[in-house]
Amino acid sequence: MNLQYDVSLKPYNTLSLDVKAAYFVCINDLYDLDAVRKFCLDQKCPWLLIGGGSNLVLTQDFEGLVMFMSMNQVFWPVEAASTEPMDHFTVIVQAGYDWDLLVAESLLRGASGLENLSLIPGQVGAAPVQNIGAYGVELKDTLESVEVFDFDTGKAFTLAAVDCEFGYRDSIFKRHQCWIITQIQLRLSLNHKPQVGYGIIADTIKVLSGEVAAKASPQQVRDAVIHIRSAKLPDPKDIPNVGSFFKNPIVSDSKMKTLARQWPGLVAYAIGSNEHKLAAAWLIDQLGWKGFVQGEVGVHEHQALVLVGSGVATGKEILDLAQRIKADVAENFGVMLEVEPRLFNGRGEFYLEL
Ligand code: FAD
Ligand code: NAP
Repeated sequence: MNLQYDVSLKPYNTLSLDVKAAYFVCINDLYDLDAVRKFCLDQKCPWLLIGGGSNLVLTQDFEGLVMFMSMNQVFWPVEAASTEPMDHFTVIVQAGYDWDLLVAESLLRGASGLENLSLIPGQVGAAPVQNIGAYGVELKDTLESVEVFDFDTGKAFTLAAVDCEFGYRDSIFKRHQCWIITQIQLRLSLNHKPQVGYGIIADTIKVLSGEVAAKASPQQVRDAVIHIRSAKLPDPKDIPNVGSFFKNPIVSDSKMKTLARQWPGLVAYAIGSNEHKLAAAWLIDQLGWKGFVQGEVGVHEHQALVLVGSGVATGKEILDLAQRIKADVAENFGVMLEVEPRLFNGRGEFYLEL
């Protein structure tokens, strides 16, 4: 393993937070993971794994070892010898592969299932961690299994998708931080059925291609998603951000009805029969935060869920703003927002208290 010292993590996180790692190493294979594990045990130092750095906030210099996941091979199926028509194929991808590149390549190979998840930044290995989702599709819809390296025991094992405890932006991996995902296996469809339940996708397909959404090809769905996202979401290369800073809160039926009486136009979607998902962006927007700027941080002008930094902002400044927004939403709506990105101080993960 190629150990480096006092490395700036600014290029490794999309908020461009300039903190340092005492030790830094790129992980190219399982031998590297094994060697790094022994080093951390010997030195008794904390460790942190970073992928694309698009879903984390680093608030201090990291006192231990930061690993950057560089295992990035993809194994597409070889041409089937059978003449039987197939309705799916499986692809195996290592954790460090770029997520959106995988989406693009899967469509070029005639497979569908990932197109709604186009343009999500980050690596393949982080996708199961929060069960990435967009426009009505989640990773769990195509995931078959995950290869895990347990940093505590040094053992590797396979976890089937049904055992990953997937939920809304949630999985078992958030509860087992010593589990490093090294590879995933996806089942992609060769019988495309467009997922166009989010109205904006159908409308954009129509505008861009003239096609009726129900007949849209996977590439047409991807083009629509890219079009919408590019217009609304800041590209971290230009404006540092980690996407949505808060999850959409889930509330009871009665709470939603009370809020809807007080706040006409409340944006809520039914989940099952008794619960509703509120659009957190709408709540924050109502309180006037959209476009807010103070010092080096602010709220994006087109999407109130996205907190942005100037490029020289600190993690603390970002979290102070998040806390003010969270307190404001709690006071006005009686709803507690939950932070989506993972927060790290000098020794490991922590959680934002109000
Ligand atoms: P990182 O930020 O590097 O890591 C995130 C967490 O996962 C950390 O705790 C890290 O330790 C852990 N982790 C990383 N790799 C591994 C691994 N191999 N094994 C175990 N743990 C690991 N998310 C969505 O769900 N939907 C969206 O539509 C979406 N849109 C976004 C748009 C923008 C502009 C941005 C900036 C972010 C968006 N995100 C979205 C959030 C983010 O891109 C995803 O959560 C992504 O999967 C994070 O990948 P990453 O490689 O950058 O993870
Ligand atoms: P949007 O279209 O403005 O919609 C606002 C919220 O309403 C979304 O968060 C979405 O919930 C929900 N919603 C909209 N239409 C819905 C429907 N037909 N059924 C159920 N829920 C519906 O959202 P946006 O901010 O532009 O984001 C578009 C998509 O990309 C969303 O799915 C969002 O989750 C995803 N995204 C995620 C991140 C991130 O960092 N996590 C960043 C950008 C975009 P859901 O979030 O549950 O889909």
